[in-house]
Amino acid sequence: MKEIYIGAGVGLFIFLAVIGFNVVPLAIIVLVMGGFIYFMQTQGQIKFNEVSRKAKSQHTISFEDIGGQDSAINELKEALEFLIKPDLIQRMGIRPLKGILLVGPPGTGKTLLARAAAAYTSSVFIAASGSEFIEMYAGVGAKRIRQLFLEARKKAARENSRSAIIFIDELDVLGAKRGKHSGHLEYDQTLNQLLVEMDGITPDEDPRILLVGATNRADLLDPALLRPGRFDRQVQVGLPDKEGRRRILSIHTRNKPLSSEEVLDQIAAATFGFSGAHLESLANEAAILAMRANSPVIEAVHFTEAIDKVLLGEKESRRPNSYEIERVSYHEGGHALVSEMVNPGSVASLSIIPRGGALGFMRKSSHDDQYLYTRPELEKQIMVTLAGAIAEELIYGDRSTGARNDFEQAWRTAREIVQSGLSSLGVVNIEDVPDPVLYEECRKIINEMESQTRRLLSENLPLLEKIASVLMEEESIDQQRFQGLVQKAS
Ligand code: ATP
Repeated sequence: MKEIYIGAGVGLFIFLAVIGFNVVPLAIIVLVMGGFIYFMQTQGQIKFNEVSRKAKSQHTISFEDIGGQDSAINELKEALEFLIKPDLIQRMGIRPLKGILLVGPPGTGKTLLARAAAAYTSSVFIAASGSEFIEMYAGVGAKRIRQLFLEARKKAARENSRSAIIFIDELDVLGAKRGKHSGHLEYDQTLNQLLVEMDGITPDEDPRILLVGATNRADLLDPALLRPGRFDRQVQVGLPDKEGRRRILSIHTRNKPLSSEEVLDQIAAATFGFSGAHLESLANEAAILAMRANSPVIEAVHFTEAIDKVLLGEKESRRPNSYEIERVSYHEGGHALVSEMVNPGSVASLSIIPRGGALGFMRKSSHDDQYLYTRPELEKQIMVTLAGAIAEELIYGDRSTGARNDFEQAWRTAREIVQSGLSSLGVVNIEDVPDPVLYEECRKIINEMESQTRRLLSENLPLLEKIASVLMEEESIDQQRFQGLVQKAS
């Protein structure tokens, strides 16, 4: 067809030139328009090719490769039934599902789940990210959406598959509430096109198409996307619990030599709040550290050091001066000492090796995941947070800028006490508490915790000095060494 049009155009030009018409201005207009159309087409094409490549380059993932997401997997499998048993679904007159939304924090395995869903249902898999649809030229995003669906159908036909799963990561970028992006209509047009494509999916279509979206901000999505018949199934993909972390660690150490399997229990307990992506990185870093230390197997100590690295970043080459080293040692020693006094056995490690912008840090150990806190527990957290600055004050008579983050953290915890109805204000809706009242209540909590921390540290100054001097000399202290120092002093 294209060739016929080009041929007819060239013929027309020759004809006009022969009869004496000045074709130069017309030729310029045609060239400019042609160039523009070509540019718009390649804008859609190039990116989409990249998306297809990304989808192709990854090997098959099954639900067994995903740890700590049992309930998400079960919910997802239930929703996938219609791809596996289309005849039954049709016989029962069930409206098939068009979209599943995976909601959860970054790195928890949403992409893995979508890929495993494709393998589970023998569907072709095609992936894109919300941000790839947003361009400054109106209409390009909508065109890419059309191409995405077209490509999924073509790929399924090519691979003789009866179904296709289209995965859109960062759905909130393209599916945010309409009208929010002032200035241009590109976002709205792209979202409208997605809605049109979803509405166009029919139950008896071959291949059957299922859309899987992922976001960590479902609240930002346009309600039209969430209404029945579109993304009408939401699956929560949360951070893994201890058992889940243990499973993820064993998945990512399958091909690694471990000193013993028990190490993983210990590390799973110490990594509360880690996502699957953190744990994958942790296993990798631990293996690198073991290799650097010429150890044939990965030991607990390699994992422990890798935790610090994953949490805080690579060691920094810059070396603080000796005065700073001393101050940081007292600061970290203060945190550790108060932590031990209010929660015996709670110090996992402390270090004055600069990492990721911090001059030192203390890491707490945890044995069980905790999701609920009482007021005394939150108060203890505030005391540990304030202890660094108070230790500096007791030794040097003043504080330093090193405690800024600690104070922000202490303030956040105090606010949580108020917000949870645990303060002297009683049950409150935080939004209705006037700022000066909130400030006063937090201030009161912090002041009280400051004096208790000061008292604890003043009563144990010799032990603080001992911890700081060992830290200055050895740079890092692990749990065992720390316990030894505390026990010797008692
Ligand atoms: P984002 O929201 O940032 O796109 P995501 O939730 O899609 O993240 P994935 O891309 O699926 O996360 O995970 C990143 C990597 O982390 C995976 O390739 C895998 O190595 C590891 N990972 C994450 N979650 C899990 C899990 N539950 N089990 C095993 N590995 C996991």
